[in-house]
Amino acid sequence: MKKHNFYAGPSIMSQYTIDETAKAIKEFADMGLSILEISHRSKQFQAVMDETVDLFKSLLDIPEGYSVLFLGGGASLQFAMVPMNMLIHKAAYLDTGVWASKAIKEAKLFGDVDVVASSKDRNYNYIPRDYTVPTDVDYFHYTSNNTIYGTEIRKDPDVKVPMIADMSSDIFSRPVDVSKYELIYGGAQKNLAPAGVTFVIVKDDTLGKADRVIPTMLNYETHVKKGSMFNTPPVLPIFSALQTLKYYKQLGGVEAIEKMDVEKADVLYNAIDGSKMFVATVPNHEDRSIMNVCFVMKPEYKDLEKDFIDFATERGMMGIKGHRDVGGFRASLYNALPMESVKALVEAMKEFESKH
Ligand SMILES: *Cc1c(COP(=O)(O)O)cnc(C)c1O
Repeated sequence: MKKHNFYAGPSIMSQYTIDETAKAIKEFADMGLSILEISHRSKQFQAVMDETVDLFKSLLDIPEGYSVLFLGGGASLQFAMVPMNMLIHKAAYLDTGVWASKAIKEAKLFGDVDVVASSKDRNYNYIPRDYTVPTDVDYFHYTSNNTIYGTEIRKDPDVKVPMIADMSSDIFSRPVDVSKYELIYGGAQKNLAPAGVTFVIVKDDTLGKADRVIPTMLNYETHVKKGSMFNTPPVLPIFSALQTLKYYKQLGGVEAIEKMDVEKADVLYNAIDGSKMFVATVPNHEDRSIMNVCFVMKPEYKDLEKDFIDFATERGMMGIKGHRDVGGFRASLYNALPMESVKALVEAMKEFESKH
């Protein structure tokens, strides 16, 4: 039985991505070799890199003057690379969860950090709204989707300074006005590729302004100049990313994907809101993530949480246990997850509820 994959990351990939990657592992580009054993400097792999960058730019409608990089180190290394390269005096950060706090911690190593607002007081179950971003900061950093808590900022904020965003877990789930950003980054293992590659979209003319020594590998300029080929890039994850991008194009691009994602999330949130047993952890509908749906059992059913996980697991549902900081359940509905899986989860919830 093919399972229903609700893992938060690494997470479900399109069958197309998996099939094409499997084929390339056997034989790549009629070379008589596997993609695992060829030079990243071969013209065949250079063609993969070029096509990946081009398709990435066209799907997100990235304006002229931006570079798309594929690096190692995960989103977590970007928490440090961003301020190392971009923080000159002071930066503003929005604290919406563990990932945002980790980014704040690294930024403090490089300059003044103004945390403009935090939702920590309620275990990050909402998006702060009443805050102002000072105009004397180098940039405003936020996390667009808070994977652990299931909150999301789905509209590019309006602030008077350039923005930087961690879009690890909702990239390609909506159109983005990239012109408002100096830089966007994310680990690829949620909506794009297997673990091992990090995407960075960076505005070229903002680089080179920080007056500090930056190690070569941690300097964005190195990677912009060399087209992500300064050293050996994560060859296989980049190949897989290209397959996912081709699949996204086939689906009709980010507008079409957003429509599907919203429909999937609506089906699940409606089932939760209409249930006597389950309750969503994010009360404000506007703040709810369409990528990670977090919910728990109401106090009177709390002891049944473990039973429900077992019940759902028996029905082929994988990865619905909530993050330890939130508890309960988390269903990740990334782009590659079919509606059929959402419906199967809703059915399991209803069946379980009717039994108790
Ligand atoms: C998963 C995740 C991260 C961590 O990514 P790594 O690639 O493991 O460093 C950071 N931010 C967000 C929003 C995430 O979902």
